[in-house]
Amino acid sequence: MKVNETEKLFYSDPYLRETKARILKVAGDGGRIRLLLDRTIFYPEGGGQPSDRGVIEGDGFRLRVEHVHGKDEVWHEGVLEGRMPEEGEEVRLSIDWEWRYENMRAHTGQHILSAIIKGLYGAETTGFQIFPDHCKIEIDYRGELGWDVVTRIEELANEVVWGDVEVEIEVYDELPGEVERRLRKTLSEKVKPPIRVVRIGNVDVTPCGGTHVRNTREIGLIKVLRFYRKSRKLWRVEFATGKRALRSLNEILEDYWRSLDGMPNKNRPLVERVGEVMGELESRERLIDELRRELWSWKGKALLDRAEEVGGVKVVAHVDDADMKDAQAFAVHLVDKNPGTVAVVGGRKYVLIARNKDVEGLSAVEVLRRALKRIGGGGGGSDNLAKGGGFRVSPEEAVSAVVEEVKKVLMS
Ligand SMILES: [Zn+2]
Repeated sequence: MKVNETEKLFYSDPYLRETKARILKVAGDGGRIRLLLDRTIFYPEGGGQPSDRGVIEGDGFRLRVEHVHGKDEVWHEGVLEGRMPEEGEEVRLSIDWEWRYENMRAHTGQHILSAIIKGLYGAETTGFQIFPDHCKIEIDYRGELGWDVVTRIEELANEVVWGDVEVEIEVYDELPGEVERRLRKTLSEKVKPPIRVVRIGNVDVTPCGGTHVRNTREIGLIKVLRFYRKSRKLWRVEFATGKRALRSLNEILEDYWRSLDGMPNKNRPLVERVGEVMGELESRERLIDELRRELWSWKGKALLDRAEEVGGVKVVAHVDDADMKDAQAFAVHLVDKNPGTVAVVGGRKYVLIARNKDVEGLSAVEVLRRALKRIGGGGGGSDNLAKGGGFRVSPEEAVSAVVEEVKKVLMS
């Protein structure tokens, strides 16, 4: 063993929750420090498995461990309470056991899931990550993944879980050919001896540096929660094991039943109820559209009745409460339906002008620009439709400025 190498007790006994160790080095000062120990039960982050958390205690101090990292030298980082620890001191270690155990269940569950997927479809697992509430794997599955395929994978994986299969850890300086041939994935060249191989009965043999349970039944359940395409070649599969599987399922079920309870018809399946509500929404949108057109037609009639006629063209002037998008739709609708019409509409922070195409010799954008020169602001558009804003006057004044310019053109 090298001088500062940390003995990794989580390998010799992954079920060890407490132990004693000696401090080799102390780094940092005050609130946040790091400790290097001669031995540890804290798993350092790696291979998709997050680091352990827990407590390191000595006489007069306590370190709340939040992050553990390092390969040969394992450093424990966290928040210090009490005095600064010193090199050579003895400390008591205890890990957050629930956190670690759920990670062990998850990691072992991933081996099984990946082995089943490869066995059934030849798809490799190209990535793996454990999160606090679920796990994620990436697989190079060709084709479309659906719930039928996922259910088949899940059933076989859980047969292994419930089948009471021993999980054995073998440690080699050099891999025997017999073991190497059976590996699910080839050993990375980065891995240096001792090589740890995880064997799950005749289901899976794979090199791995994580922590695992002793027997598959400890996993409890492997539940796929979600899957989606990540890229052209890769799919992501999210799953949970043990207590996390139960929690995730409850969260999803609570969401499901609460959503269903919020529906006008509370009978399953939710997907049909959502379809009904969406259909209702669409028909209401169609109705709103019809009503809007009817309103526009009445509003248009009223405005045309009191419109001023200049040189044979009806000039509609109107100040509207609607936002610019709606006001524009109305103005365009009005002039399109009525030949020989120009509409000038102003509202909060905008003024717009629309003409029927047959009103020749009057360019909407030119008229608008001339008006804006007098009242300030800017805008643009085409001969048929132009919009402006940023002027310093009221909407009424903006409308009459544009109307004045329209009249000048029509009377010339
Ligand atoms: Zn593993």
